[in-house]
Amino acid sequence: MRGPQPEISDFPTLPPSRKFTAILSVMPSVYIKTYGCQMNERDSEAVAAQLVAKGYSLAPSESTADVILLNTCSVRDAAEQKAVGKMQTLAAEVRRHRPGVVLGFMGCMAQSRGRQLIDKLPDVDLVIGTQKFHRTADYLDDIFAGKLAKVVDVAAEAGSEATIREHLLNGSATDKSVTAFVSIMQGCNQYCTFCIVPYTRGGERSRSIPDIVAECRELVSRGVKEITLLGQIVTSYGKRDLPVNDGKSAFVQLLEAVHEIDGLERIRFTSPHPKGYGDDLVEAYCRLPKLVESAHLPVQSGSDRMLKLMHRGYTRERYLGIIEKLRRARPQMGVTTDIIVGFPGETEADFEETLSLARQVEFDNAFVFKYSPRKDTPAAAMPGQLPQEVKEERNARLLEVINEIGARHYAAYVGRQVEILVEGPSKRNPARMMGRTRSNKIVLFEGSERHRGQIMDLKINRAGSFTLYGDPAIINME
Ligand code: SF4
Repeated sequence: MRGPQPEISDFPTLPPSRKFTAILSVMPSVYIKTYGCQMNERDSEAVAAQLVAKGYSLAPSESTADVILLNTCSVRDAAEQKAVGKMQTLAAEVRRHRPGVVLGFMGCMAQSRGRQLIDKLPDVDLVIGTQKFHRTADYLDDIFAGKLAKVVDVAAEAGSEATIREHLLNGSATDKSVTAFVSIMQGCNQYCTFCIVPYTRGGERSRSIPDIVAECRELVSRGVKEITLLGQIVTSYGKRDLPVNDGKSAFVQLLEAVHEIDGLERIRFTSPHPKGYGDDLVEAYCRLPKLVESAHLPVQSGSDRMLKLMHRGYTRERYLGIIEKLRRARPQMGVTTDIIVGFPGETEADFEETLSLARQVEFDNAFVFKYSPRKDTPAAAMPGQLPQEVKEERNARLLEVINEIGARHYAAYVGRQVEILVEGPSKRNPARMMGRTRSNKIVLFEGSERHRGQIMDLKINRAGSFTLYGDPAIINME
C-alpha cells in the first residue's frame, strides 16, 4: 500500500538538461556512497539491488554515474557535515560538467532534515527518509521520465521494515559473498539520552519470523554460509508481536528458526542491548551450535551514575553478570563493546570506573567514542558538557587500556589452531585470503579463491594489531 504522498508539488519544473537525460535509451547508472553503521550499509545494498532489478547498472565511481546517492548518518555532527560537504563538492564539480546527473540524500540525515536539505543545497533532487528506501527506484524512474522534478519523502510507512530484503551478493563466480546481513527490525524504543536513532529511525518495528527465515533460506541457496541478523536493538525483536513461549523471548524464537536452516553454518547478530540478555538468550548459546561465540555488547560507561544519565536501563553489576554468564556458557566467547567518554557530567571518578570495567571484562576490542552532542537529544541540553581536551585525554587513556588488552588477547592465539570461514581476498592485500574465527577475529593467510566459503582450520603463527596470521603450511585441506 502506498503511504502518504511525497512532497513534490511546489518544486520547479524539470530542467531542460534532465529532460534530455530522460530520453536516453540506456538505463542510467547509480553510485551510492554510504556513511555510518552496518544498518546503513545494508540499506544501501538493498536499494542498489532494487535498482539493479529494475535495469539500472551500478557505476564503479561517482565520476561516471548518472545518479549519485549519499546514504547518510546522523549519529555525530561530523558525519552530517561530511555528507553535506560531499554534496556541495558534487554539485560544484560533477553537476558543472554533467548537468543531467541526479543527486540525492537518503537515510538518517535525510529523515531528520527533509526539505531543508533542498533549501540549503538546491542542486539536490531527491531526499529519501529511513522508511522510504524501497521507493527510490520509483522516484528515479519518475524523475528520468520527466514526471517529477524533485522529491522529498520522509513520511512514516507501515510495513516498511519488511522492505529491506534484496541482496547483491556480487553475482560473479570469482566474487561471491559467503556472508550476508539480514535486517530483522527497524527503529528503537530505548531513547538513550545521547542517541538520535529513535528520532531518525522511528519506533521498533519487527519483520515476521517466516519472512526473515525465507530471506535467510534464499541466501543460503545462493551460497551464503554465515548470516548476521541486523537491527538497532535486536534483542528487542518482536517484543510487541510475539509472546514469550516456553520462557523464550521472540528473539530467541527467531534464532531457533534460523538455526534450523540446512546449509547455514554460522549465525551472528548485532547490535544487542545488555538489558535484552536474559537467561533464555544465554542458554541459547549452549543449545544452538551455529550461534557463534561472539558478543558485541555495548556498555557505554562503567559508572552507574553515567548509565542512569544515559538512560541505558542496566547497572554495572548487571552488565558484569551477563558477561560472566556468557563466558560460563561459552568460554571462548569474544566480547567487544562500544564506550562513550566525556558524556555530560562525567567526572574523573566516573571515567575511572569505565577504565576499571574495561580491565575487569578484558574486552577483545572496543569502539571508543568521544561524546558529541546531537541536536534535539536530551543529553545535548544537559549541564556539565565537557571541554574537548578532557574528551581527547580520556579517549587516549581508554584506548591505551583497550589496545594493551587486545594485543595480549591476540598474542595468546599464536601457536593455537582456529576454525575460520574464508570470506574472500583481504581488502588491504588482495594477495591474501581473509577469514573470521567464530569469535569474530580476522585471520589472513596465503590461500586462493578456491578456499572461499570453506570452513577450515589454521594454525596461527603471528598476531598483528587486531589481526591474526595463519600458517599456510598446515592448512587443513579436508
Ligand atoms: S539502544 Fe542503541 S539505538 Fe536505541 S537509543 Fe540506545 S544507543 Fe540508540
